[in-house]
Amino acid sequence: MFRHYMEKKVSELMAQVPDVADHEALRLLLLAVDEGASWPVGDPDVTAEVAGRFEGYVERRRGGEPLQYIEETVQFGPLELHIDSRALIPRPETERLWELAVDLVKGLDEPTIIDVGTGSGNLALAMKWIRPDSIVIGCDLSCDALDLARENAARLGLAVDFLIGDLLDPLPTSLRGEVDLIVSNPPYVARSEYEGLAAEVREHEPMEALVADTDGLGILNRIAVGAADWLRPGAAIICEIGETQGLACLDLFSGYSPRIEEDLTGRDRFVVGSAPMASDVH
Ligand code: GLN
Repeated sequence: MFRHYMEKKVSELMAQVPDVADHEALRLLLLAVDEGASWPVGDPDVTAEVAGRFEGYVERRRGGEPLQYIEETVQFGPLELHIDSRALIPRPETERLWELAVDLVKGLDEPTIIDVGTGSGNLALAMKWIRPDSIVIGCDLSCDALDLARENAARLGLAVDFLIGDLLDPLPTSLRGEVDLIVSNPPYVARSEYEGLAAEVREHEPMEALVADTDGLGILNRIAVGAADWLRPGAAIICEIGETQGLACLDLFSGYSPRIEEDLTGRDRFVVGSAPMASDVH
């Protein structure tokens, strides 16, 4: 009798949360049910414990916390990554960056790849996953983000080194002129645009992973300048950029014969270039 009183039906729980999108509410319920249990089929009773956990998750979602932070999981390309507020949530457009980057090291044996501003480690780890022969280093200024990236590397069994420091500064000097590919999804949101981002992003994701200077181009500029010391002649560089920054980035990366690539929604999203061949340098 008491037990029956404590239980709730899935349909009852769903009816309690008309303000949360069904597909999200179902994911939160699945998260609450988890711990080895299988997804409830039909409209079964769930225990008070599950209902309590579900209500806690719904409260967080109502407070605007991104679903991925609540689930502590995000899919990035082939990888399921752990994610929390220590790092930016990897976005689908950055999966496209990964695909383009994979092409840039096709045909190279044991390429050395650097991910600048690695955050959760998503790009660095996905590169290592698809190119196990590569040497991959991820750099970030945030200690918290690097802890998360290292946890992801350990869980996935991927041998990527994560170094703390500003942009390319933490790299060992032995890599000068030796790097085959630099990838980066740096902060590129202009300060003036930050207020226009969704509250969900502003209130929960690390601002330092998003905003760069007044026009959003400051860090891209520093990467363009700094990369020249590290790339071998002919090596590639690819960075994610804001959709209005294409022209400006062609200028910033003019030393790398740059081109702009679009994301899947047809917006300018990546600047891709290559370091001059030794013979091009006069
Ligand atoms: N595209 C991201 C956003 O608007 C920004 C990512 C970044 O600054 N690297 O949320």
